[in-house]
Amino acid sequence: MDFETVIGLEVHVQLSTASKVFCGCGTLFGEAANTQTCPVCLGLPGSLPVLNKEAFRKAIKAALALNCEIAEITKFDRKHYFYPDLPKNFQISQFDMPFSRDGQLEIIIEEGIKRIGITRVHLEEDAGKLMHMADGDNSLVDFNRAGTPLLEIVSEPDMSSPEEAYAYLTELKAVMEYIEVSDCDMEKGSLRCDANISLRPRGTAGLGAKVEIKNMNSFKAVRAALQYEVNRQHDLLADGKTVVQETRLWDADGLYTTPMRGKEESHDYRYFPEPDLPLFEISRQMVADIRSGLPEMPARRRERFVSEYRLSEYDAGVLTQDKALADYFEEVLVDYNNPKMVANWLMGDILAYLSATNMTITEVKMTPQSLAKALKLQEDGVISGKIQKQILPVLLKEGKDPEAYVKEAGLAQISDEDELSRIVERVIAANPASVQSYREGKEKALGFLVGGVMKETRGKANPQLVNQLLKERLDTSNT
Ligand SMILES: [Zn+2]
Repeated sequence: MDFETVIGLEVHVQLSTASKVFCGCGTLFGEAANTQTCPVCLGLPGSLPVLNKEAFRKAIKAALALNCEIAEITKFDRKHYFYPDLPKNFQISQFDMPFSRDGQLEIIIEEGIKRIGITRVHLEEDAGKLMHMADGDNSLVDFNRAGTPLLEIVSEPDMSSPEEAYAYLTELKAVMEYIEVSDCDMEKGSLRCDANISLRPRGTAGLGAKVEIKNMNSFKAVRAALQYEVNRQHDLLADGKTVVQETRLWDADGLYTTPMRGKEESHDYRYFPEPDLPLFEISRQMVADIRSGLPEMPARRRERFVSEYRLSEYDAGVLTQDKALADYFEEVLVDYNNPKMVANWLMGDILAYLSATNMTITEVKMTPQSLAKALKLQEDGVISGKIQKQILPVLLKEGKDPEAYVKEAGLAQISDEDELSRIVERVIAANPASVQSYREGKEKALGFLVGGVMKETRGKANPQLVNQLLKERLDTSNT
């Protein structure tokens, strides 16, 4: 029997605000445990929550960027469950009146563009963190994260492969970074993902038993866990067995999922309206203001890079995935308008440098203006491509002025005919066998002689000129 895969994702994005969502505590990451707490986020009796306006505005911004409709009235609810890092024993979340619904996100798949529906986006508070001690007997709790604003973005079950889920997450992260509502750092837990997956006979409409997978801490882990589940569920169904509806944990070391608990239903949480917060009316004026402040989204920018700069879809995709990189690219073009050349260097040597040093483009010392200058030096024949490769890491690391550095390090290309002629003579004199071969018609020998000149000048000779001088000498004088 032939099955098809149905995947929906629930993504939690921590909003980057100076203070928590219902109190004035700070949200800095990595502070000493329990120093960013107060009676509200510790859930002490008598304390009352107040909604953080900045968090709410950022939440609306994110929902608009995902093409959602913004509700006129929204309410917060208590979601009850016990967990040691949840001091109130309930979480303030949103149940039946989330502030936004019905959005969509475009992803790029092999067949082209696919639209993934967004069921809803709601705002809630994060829980604290447990740290399990190495002795295996004790756990410590840190409430610094408790009450940090968290966006829950629920997709429709519109993805039909682990690859599509990966593409959705990549695009979602790019959108959140473009609108600057979150640092989206998965290592810090600013972006987390749970996946729902089921299989059904191909062509049928109903949904099979759904498995929720948790504990995946990278997009690659999400893809791997989903692939594991596709195989596991396929084998069960093909054998005529049933898939149990449950929550499973991804084991990143063993690369498999294990049962965690039976799948809970929403009535298990005993949702009821949060009595300490009023209903919120969302003014259309505020929504319009936030909407008008949205930047160009990654998908639009990608299209523009293709049409305006004549880049390939692939190159435009790589450059626009990271907003800072796309900004950098366009800033270089202001001073050096050769998109293909700039794209090649950025996607080649510069991205390789960033990946090797584990840095982002905003952390390097080379300004876009510097890169423009360096590329101009190459275009003007002052330096060769080979020397460009050599100086870029220095510029990236030390932020030197390319012109001054080339001069100081004596890297300017030698285009002086007299100087090169003398070197050409020396190389010819030192390699009689190659000269002989060339004259017998072996073109390859010329390359060897060019290499000899390059070696003598440590890569600085102007290659066209060397070729020309060598040929002149070899073709005319037969002595
Ligand atoms: Zn607090």
